[in-house]
Amino acid sequence: MGAGVQSTALLLLAARGRLDSLDGAIFADTKWEPETVYRHLDRLEREVAQPAGIPIHRVSAGDIRADALNPKKRFASMPLHILNPDGKPGMMRRQCTSEYKIKPIKRQVRHLLGFPHPTRVPKGICVEQWIGISIDEFHRAKDSDVRYITNRHPLIDLGWTRDDCLTYLRELGFESTPKSACLGCPYHGNAQWRKIRDESPQEWEDVVAFDTAIRSGNARANAAGNPLLGQAFLHRSRLPLSEAPIDRLSAREWAERQPPLPETAEEVLEAGVEDGCSPWSCRSDAPVPSDYDQAA
Ligand code: SF4
Repeated sequence: MGAGVQSTALLLLAARGRLDSLDGAIFADTKWEPETVYRHLDRLEREVAQPAGIPIHRVSAGDIRADALNPKKRFASMPLHILNPDGKPGMMRRQCTSEYKIKPIKRQVRHLLGFPHPTRVPKGICVEQWIGISIDEFHRAKDSDVRYITNRHPLIDLGWTRDDCLTYLRELGFESTPKSACLGCPYHGNAQWRKIRDESPQEWEDVVAFDTAIRSGNARANAAGNPLLGQAFLHRSRLPLSEAPIDRLSAREWAERQPPLPETAEEVLEAGVEDGCSPWSCRSDAPVPSDYDQAA
């Protein structure tokens, strides 16, 4: 359970009996999620999981931010944006998801099964692992790569999109469900960087400081005399985060910000005004088609 939109919807569906109940939910903590995610997880645990008898297991392989800057720690590389000495852009291989999320989850599954690593999980012992993937991202749904886990994607089985999940969350008072990802994930788009900068100055300071600290690559490689040849950045412009053009809107964001085209008078009359109408109340908000004018 990442504690984002889809996995929150999944937990609520199970807790409220619309899906089978769950034996547990596992949250893999990279220790660098936004504060809003931790607060949301606490609320979910208190208001949803505990009353439904679903334990939330918080597991962790360490603090991804601290590990990247610690010369004594093995660095599971983040997908940092690289500027090579010849000016060509590159990207570091992503190992962090496997190291900080998938491995601790599998470790916990084995622990719950009673066969912790390196004990072999006997043939025939298997858990059903639910993953919160909605139908609009079905290409992300994969079979498990180990015999003791069978993946299931109940949101896809239900035919739910992300918007369906959002509607459900709104109905149940969880409309503030945040996006879950590491604060300094290089996959953030400008909208996410702006959100951190504009809504959480302390977290913004934290990611800007990390971006500066990671410029010559991870601490362990540098300490081992194996420095990065180019420079590493969190923002895809390959500029320091504090100078990166994060106020630039994507084409989609730009389109979303344009005021909607006015509806035609016919459409407004067809749908009715937002606040409803009765035979005796005035529909003064609604434009009147010229032929109705004439009729009046
Ligand atoms: S959110 Fe980003 S940085 Fe964090 S584990 Fe996932 S890919 Fe890596």
